[in-house]
Amino acid sequence: MNILVCVKQVPNTKVTKIDPQLDPKTNTLIRSDIPAIANPFDEFAMELAARVKDAHEGVQITVLSMGPAQADAVLKQCLSVGGDHAYLLSDPAFRGSDTLATSFILSSAVRYLEEKEGRFDLIFCGKQAIDGETAQVGPELAEYLGYAQATYVTEVTAQDGGVEVNRETADGYERIWVQYPAVLTITKTAYEPRLPSIKSKLASIRAVIPTFTAKELGLDPEKCGLKGSRTKVIRSCNPEKKAGCMKIKEETGAESAHKLFDLLHSEHII
Ligand SMILES: Cc1cc2nc3c(=O)[nH]c(=O)nc-3n(C[C@H](O)[C@H](O)[C@H](O)COP(=O)(O)OP(=O)(O)OC[C@H]3O[C@@H](n4cnc5c(N)ncnc54)[C@H](O)[C@@H]3O)c2cc1C
Repeated sequence: MNILVCVKQVPNTKVTKIDPQLDPKTNTLIRSDIPAIANPFDEFAMELAARVKDAHEGVQITVLSMGPAQADAVLKQCLSVGGDHAYLLSDPAFRGSDTLATSFILSSAVRYLEEKEGRFDLIFCGKQAIDGETAQVGPELAEYLGYAQATYVTEVTAQDGGVEVNRETADGYERIWVQYPAVLTITKTAYEPRLPSIKSKLASIRAVIPTFTAKELGLDPEKCGLKGSRTKVIRSCNPEKKAGCMKIKEETGAESAHKLFDLLHSEHII
């Protein structure tokens, strides 16, 4: 079985006090001077892939990331916890890609690798990235590839011909069966991602990660980056903090509710 895990490098907004800056010309995030981490949901995706590998003979895990050269750090992190192969998609032409352009580039890399290494039975993405937070790339990737998909997955059981998954729904959970090949987007699992052993950590540090450009993937640069994006960030600003919110605290809850109703009614809001 061949599994692919898509991993995005994201700003580590938890540790840095630096407010992420946007490039005034392109309105895209300036990622260079912000400490970066692997997207947390992608770490859960990597852990689920490693558990399928623990449970089944002959599973190979490939990890893929599109980003600047320093994104190879998240690929090495995945190699240290069970990844077998890793590839970086890096090219100035990819900069500023929106979700459609990103999933187009990722899907082209999947096709390119499948020609070389055989088809991927499962492709794991995180439910969403903590910077863009669109949760669009997984489903878009499945659409580009024509693969089955399931989102918000918390548990997988690989079987012949397909996989049984637990997925979060608005009302709780459901258990569904999805045939191979399939794209699954992974949310927080019941267990924490594993830590690397010293041996696997040292091996991952020494790993040489092949990098593919648009040319190597045979991509038209017009379909990548800002040029290939259907959405353009035209302006971004910090929302104005409005002062003077009103607190309603009457004797009883009912009285407070009445007062709120009267207020909203007098303002013709309701
Ligand atoms: C603040 C902000 C707002 C944005 N808003 C939009 C928007 O409204 N519309 C839009 O089209 N773009 C938007 N973008 C750009 C968007 O972030 C990029 O297109 C990004 O590459 C993919 O979208 P995402 O971050 O939302 O990822 P998501 O769709 O949330 O990511 C889901 C999963 O896809 C995989 N994945 C995503 N990106 C990569 C990657 N580069 N390499 C490998 N795997 C990856 C990961 O497994 C990830 O967990 C925004 C970016 C920022 C920083």
